Amino acid sequence: MDLEKVHKMIEVCRKIDKKLHCFTTICEEEAISQAKDNPAGKLSGKFFSVKDCICVKGVESCAGSAILKGYRPPFDAFSVQRIKEEGGIIIGKTSQDEFGFGGFCVNTGVGFETPKNPIDDTRSCGGSSGGAACITKALPDELNHVALAESTGGSIACPAAFCGTIGLTPTYGLVSRWGLIDYGNSLDKIGPIAKNVPDAAQILSAIAKKDIRDSTSVGSDGDYASYLGKDIKGMKIGVISDNLGEGTDPAVAERIRKAVSYFDSTGAEYNEISLPSAVRYGLPAYYIIAMCESSTNLAKYCGMRYGANEKLDGNFNEYFTKVRSRFFGKEAKRRIILGTYARMAGYRDAYYIKAMKVRTKVIEEYKTALKKFDVLLSPSMPMVAPKIDEIKDLPPMRHYMADACTAPVNLAGLPHISIPCGNHNGMPVGMMLIGDHFCEGKLISLADKFERDHDGI
Ligand code: GLN
Repeated sequence: MDLEKVHKMIEVCRKIDKKLHCFTTICEEEAISQAKDNPAGKLSGKFFSVKDCICVKGVESCAGSAILKGYRPPFDAFSVQRIKEEGGIIIGKTSQDEFGFGGFCVNTGVGFETPKNPIDDTRSCGGSSGGAACITKALPDELNHVALAESTGGSIACPAAFCGTIGLTPTYGLVSRWGLIDYGNSLDKIGPIAKNVPDAAQILSAIAKKDIRDSTSVGSDGDYASYLGKDIKGMKIGVISDNLGEGTDPAVAERIRKAVSYFDSTGAEYNEISLPSAVRYGLPAYYIIAMCESSTNLAKYCGMRYGANEKLDGNFNEYFTKVRSRFFGKEAKRRIILGTYARMAGYRDAYYIKAMKVRTKVIEEYKTALKKFDVLLSPSMPMVAPKIDEIKDLPPMRHYMADACTAPVNLAGLPHISIPCGNHNGMPVGMMLIGDHFCEGKLISLADKFERDHDGI
């Protein structure tokens, strides 16, 4: 790639970052050295930002946490390796809630700034992949950028909705998690945040390959771009009615209903459907499982082998308490405490095991619905991006409740895509289409048709 182009890109990113804090690192040197000898491939000419929790060789990758500050992985995550193999150029690491713990990017780690929404910088850009959606929206089209993001319980769809971009969360297992700094291993998925559906489809084709280093990797040889430009006549859409009533901003519900009438006018068929178990119990089950898994994942950061350390003194408990108290943020500490509690002897059956049973029920409910419908449709988020000042001090439960639409879908490992569908108070509304496992193609066909007919919203 032309080095001039790389310099220009870095300069624009620096300018945006100064105002919006969307990067944790901008890696100019690496981008230039990649551009000098990068192979020609399907992603040549494209720039990529990578969420901080996805490892990039030689570039600080700390999942937005002070406990991993200074960590430069000696390897690339599988998805990053695939991007490089196809000629894409990595320009930096994007801001996130610490380890992915949040939906508004206000739970950034000690010493990290909160990224802001590029449409209105007093508002949240969503989380936890907030920086990814922020830079995707803020960069001009001609700079040809796509973000690599990650979702555990909604972290791709949420920021995509708040910033007015496309967010494609693949089926659990479709993209290898090798090289991802884990949040919850049975839930984590890597996927693109892009300006348009064709970009998202192209990136998915590049990264959705089998990788033997991740035992849950299924991979695919699919060319997802082949689902673009399809006729959607006769496709069956199930509109999740539970997500359009109480708890959802009526203005958001109205935009979603408008999108439904558009699909109706194209010859796709729709019907309302209620998913009582998923909607009622999916969110609490998600939080119990996610916290249990994250608390075990964070146990390794004890100041000895991984992450930050301090001068050794006191016994082991005193020492690791000192390190963890200093370097973990408030939300990470909360999740360690709650997650440890929920899987402790005596409480495990009541919380963790019960949540796992609920998870099976939720999956069954979605699977039954997806026998009747090609896709399910819902708002991505029940509101538009809130003001940062209004949410940063809300009790954690209020933050968790905002994941009502996305957490159950993620719990079931189902693919979903968030597409902008109109505005409210000048802020974008996100519509979410949900498919059966490994049916990303249908999501791409519907989203692409919608995008082409609603250019610029
Ligand atoms: N907001 C959710 C949580 O805090 C989801 C975050 C994510 O997907 N990483 O767990």
